[in-house]
Amino acid sequence: MIQTLIILSIDAMILYMMVPFILTRICGLGVLSKGKVAKGIAFTFDDGPDPCYTPELLDLLQEHEVKATFFVLGSKAEKNPELIQRMYLEGHQIGIHNYIHKSNWILSPWRSRREQADRTADIVESITGERPTYYRPPWGLLNLGDLLLMRKSYRIVLWSVMVGDWKPSVSSEQLKRSLLKRIKPGSIVVLHDSGDTLGADEGAPRHMITGLKEVLKSIHRKGFDCLRADELLDKGAEGKVRGARCVAAAWRLSNPSNDGWSLTVHEEKNIVYLASNHRFSQRQSATGNLKNRQEDFSS
Ligand SMILES: [Zn+2]
Repeated sequence: MIQTLIILSIDAMILYMMVPFILTRICGLGVLSKGKVAKGIAFTFDDGPDPCYTPELLDLLQEHEVKATFFVLGSKAEKNPELIQRMYLEGHQIGIHNYIHKSNWILSPWRSRREQADRTADIVESITGERPTYYRPPWGLLNLGDLLLMRKSYRIVLWSVMVGDWKPSVSSEQLKRSLLKRIKPGSIVVLHDSGDTLGADEGAPRHMITGLKEVLKSIHRKGFDCLRADELLDKGAEGKVRGARCVAAAWRLSNPSNDGWSLTVHEEKNIVYLASNHRFSQRQSATGNLKNRQEDFSS
């Protein structure tokens, strides 16, 4: 009886953890880990925002005019809303990396979606007015239910280049060499702007920023274009996403009182659309020609 229970438990674990691992991490099914834009690459930063390292990283990206994607933890976004606001205003993409850095393997599909991803999306949306639609699970690990539930609301982004920047043994020089060797057109690079998660070294982001500084100089010389993950993954979406964001920003500026309105940009597959906080959503195939509507649909 006990033996049967053990065998059943192992089978359940394999189904819940290993099947999604094989499908996503080995076969790349249901997740995005490489872009389609020629000469385009995307730098992504996980585990922040961190009050010590993230401002320094944002300064570096600004200096090199690089747009990136930050997969943030909701608990840290709550504590550092000014950093989320700064990322947003400086044109970076904000994605979700759970509320706390917990593996989805030890969470039910409902908890990983509602208590981790959705909760973090609510926090980011309350700070920026724009709901994140890209998700990266901690350690890139999904459970079986995530394959169905998480993908209904979010695009799941993993990576194609990982160089162990969280380890104390990896120096900034080694990081630089590994990155320059491995970055190819379409690469999605994962780095970390916080060192306080399980298995990471607290001072590691210092090496990462020092190494990245040198990498950015070379990357520009090689003619690579550093894009946000959404721009890299949706070939041709770059202008449309930026266009929609401009419309939303202009709306907010021209309607300071709002009258209960606010417009936010949403993306779903190849559709970019604006939505208000009333019972109204206007969808349009992503032509970049998004129109403002001023009727009140709340009644
Ligand atoms: Zn992480």
